[in-house]
Amino acid sequence: MSPPQHSTVPLDILQEVFGYSAFRGQQAQIVDHVTGGGDALVLMPTGGGKSLCYQIPAIARQRAGHGVTVVVSPLIALMHDQVGALEEAGVEAAFLNSSQTLEDAQRIERDMLAGRLSLLYAAPERLNTPRFLAQLQSLYERGKLGLFAIDEAHCVSQWGHDFRSEYLSLNLLHERFPGIPRIALTATADDITRADIIERLQLEDARVFVASFDRPNIRYLIVEKGDKQRDQLLRFIQDEHESDAGIVYCQSRKRVDETAEWLRGEGINALAYHAGMDSEMRRRHQDRFLREEGIVMVATVAFGMGIDKPDVRFVAHLDLPKNIEGYYQETGRAGRDGEPAQAWMAYGLSDVVNQRRMIDESPSTEEFKQVQRGKLDALLALAEAIDCRRVRLLSYFGEESEPCGNCDNCLNPPATWNATESARMAMSCIYRFKQHGDMQFGAGHLIDVLRGKETDKVRQYGHQKLSTWAIGAALSEQQWRAVLRQLFALGYVATEGEYNTLVLTDTARAVLRGEVELLMRQPSAPAKRARGGKSG
Ligand code: ADP
Ligand code: ZN
Repeated sequence: MSPPQHSTVPLDILQEVFGYSAFRGQQAQIVDHVTGGGDALVLMPTGGGKSLCYQIPAIARQRAGHGVTVVVSPLIALMHDQVGALEEAGVEAAFLNSSQTLEDAQRIERDMLAGRLSLLYAAPERLNTPRFLAQLQSLYERGKLGLFAIDEAHCVSQWGHDFRSEYLSLNLLHERFPGIPRIALTATADDITRADIIERLQLEDARVFVASFDRPNIRYLIVEKGDKQRDQLLRFIQDEHESDAGIVYCQSRKRVDETAEWLRGEGINALAYHAGMDSEMRRRHQDRFLREEGIVMVATVAFGMGIDKPDVRFVAHLDLPKNIEGYYQETGRAGRDGEPAQAWMAYGLSDVVNQRRMIDESPSTEEFKQVQRGKLDALLALAEAIDCRRVRLLSYFGEESEPCGNCDNCLNPPATWNATESARMAMSCIYRFKQHGDMQFGAGHLIDVLRGKETDKVRQYGHQKLSTWAIGAALSEQQWRAVLRQLFALGYVATEGEYNTLVLTDTARAVLRGEVELLMRQPSAPAKRARGGKSG
């Protein structure tokens, strides 16, 4: 009778070591391919089960005498958790990172060289050190280097949201240790990132496994920002997620602090998390979020990578993320347990203007900015969409699907109106401003002129004499903001300079000539409470 724990059959390992009955999705094919020595690129959403795709081949290959698997991971916290879980399951695993004492690191190196480890986790920078490379070389020469697993492989792409320069040198694994299989894994899968990973890691011959990126249990909701976005958030939490665990993403540290404090004042169990806090406090908040029930973590994007809390019931964005990958990754932290969860985002004109400006003013090459603008446009199109959000989201990842029935647009198809004429009014008004030379006129002033509101600025520039004066009085200020937001989102209008001066883009002409029809979503909450007076 051979002891079952020495089986090299993947399904046996899944059941005996990990205690799961069956593989999920494409796991079985991936595991077979890699265990057999093939290279693989795995694109699978967060929570899809990527870890087993290399952990099982690692165990199988070690048992078959091929030696240790080296897992490259950028996240110390994640290494820690995974090694802990593997050890608990009886797998010899360890990590090498900068948080260790020299003695610990040397002991682990000895274990690795003596063939006592199945998996060794290491930060990417370690793979650039001559010492570590020499150790790998020694294993390689003895046939005891089993597999390289490159986790978070999108970090190699400069177009991604998480570029790490140390990842660039990982292609040397292929050059120095030919014949050792490699598996690269990521949850980011747009075409441009995928192509980049293949090129930079020299994975041209790898088999590519693309899992569905659909997370059917997540309901997507994108609402228009009103004057009181915090109240909108509070209502969403109170009405639909009372005492649920959730994450609220904000763009800046300041906004994180303010929002967390405000939510606490409203009786929500909220904590803050951002890179500006001291590490002790950050760790404490993270621990509480993981261990206690019903904590709402208000955070910058610094929070979340590698955090595996299965019962996060909602992820809210109070500010627009940078692009769809970011949105998808962040919202993907909701509902990992497969139970219903919601992804809620509030989105407004200022988000569009800010994000565009951040790209314009970033110290990058024009090529890079162009890519970022394209990515932002795709996200804006998602936010402005009047059809199924999921269909749009998945199509961004190259997946075709049918309307989902589980997003705001499917559940409550938005009312639309034909805004072609209004768009032309706004654009011809911007055009008239231009004839005033280099003056700075932003969105607020434009709306005043369109609606015929005589402000000091209007009088100062004599704008009440423009032919476009008051031509848009029939629309509310909020409707005009919606029109403008969509003109920004569609790229017909842009801003320039430090005062966000409005300008028409090259594509604007088609609208002015009446060649484009603009169907827009009706503002969700029309006339707001009356200004100055108390609402009934
Ligand atoms: P990812 O790294 O893709 O975000 P993980 O590897 O952390 O996902 O897996 C997500 C969760 O799913 C984990 O709790 C994991 O144990 C579980 N899981 C993965 N594969 C299976 C399976 N075949 N059967 C049951 N649970 C699984
Ligand atoms: Zn839908």
